[in-house]
Amino acid sequence: MRENSPLVFKYADIVAEGGLSLELEPDPAGYADLYDLPVAVNKVRLELALTVGPDSVFLAGKVRAELRLECSRCAEPLVRSFEDSFDEVYPDTVEYIDTRELIRETAGLLAPMKVLCSENCRGRCLVCGANRNRLVCACKTEKASPFEALKGLKLPEGGKPRKKKKDI
Ligand SMILES: [Zn+2]
Ligand SMILES: [Zn+2]
Repeated sequence: MRENSPLVFKYADIVAEGGLSLELEPDPAGYADLYDLPVAVNKVRLELALTVGPDSVFLAGKVRAELRLECSRCAEPLVRSFEDSFDEVYPDTVEYIDTRELIRETAGLLAPMKVLCSENCRGRCLVCGANRNRLVCACKTEKASPFEALKGLKLPEGGKPRKKKKDI
């Protein structure tokens, strides 16, 4: 069924057309299995550019996906978009240029390990589970914060947070 997928191209056709560039929005259901709940795929958008070289075809692509996620701190649902690009070279010995696996691999790595509804998210009360962004519960949090002891500590300069995946 390779010929029936809009993500599989006949090498000879691409050469005959002198390359190809296209944008498409495939059915997100085809990507649903890439993530486990609570992460789910809302929308997928693809950009593909096939460039014909002397003895190969070069593919440059971009996957953009709108994902449903949960805040890692308060567990509220979120919708965020992420994108990443990929490329590949197909030698003239192939009959088909099948981009499906590459696209799925890229799409499957878009969700970050951790996502916050806001940098200032206050999380949930450990006692009653109330979302502290919305209400202040009356629970006693008698335990001192584990960060209390660090307060007097001077942190070295330049302790930058690690680079995060592009969040758009
Ligand atoms: Zn949150
Ligand atoms: Zn509480």
